[in-house]
Amino acid sequence: MSLLLCIAAAVIWVLSYQLTQYVGWSDQRQFYGALSIAGLLRVEHGTYPGRPGFSYEQRNEINETLWNEAAARDRRGGVFKQLGFAYSYIDYYSNGKEVRQSIYLPHWSLVAFFGLLSLFKLIALLRRRPHGPGLCAACGYDMRATPDRCPECGGVPASLRQIEQH
Ligand SMILES: [Zn+2]
Repeated sequence: MSLLLCIAAAVIWVLSYQLTQYVGWSDQRQFYGALSIAGLLRVEHGTYPGRPGFSYEQRNEINETLWNEAAARDRRGGVFKQLGFAYSYIDYYSNGKEVRQSIYLPHWSLVAFFGLLSLFKLIALLRRRPHGPGLCAACGYDMRATPDRCPECGGVPASLRQIEQH
């Protein structure tokens, strides 16, 4: 799953240098949206309506208006801002009625995140000790010569532990 997400993020990243993509959802009170443009992902929420229902828009260019909007917006993010991570909060009428909040993320960060997650899962999978008859359940050591106690880790098989308790 994380590998698929990593690949998907990489594809969207590459596409973002040729296409401007936007997905959104809105009802009569609020909207959610995600804009992918030139290596940047902007996820946003607004407390006012956008285009009703689900929407998807794609333009075969880096849309200049949207790029200028994304680039010019006042953002907070401290040192992370240099890397493309930022947050913006716009209260259009300064009364809290039409508020738009956006999180900016560079596409590479998603590729790296899901890539590392896949790598950790792979390492965990490879490290998983073998289990089976004659092998210690704790460390996988061959216990056929010493069936009542593991010489490697001192583990006692669950079946024997139950017998000892009775
Ligand atoms: Zn053991």
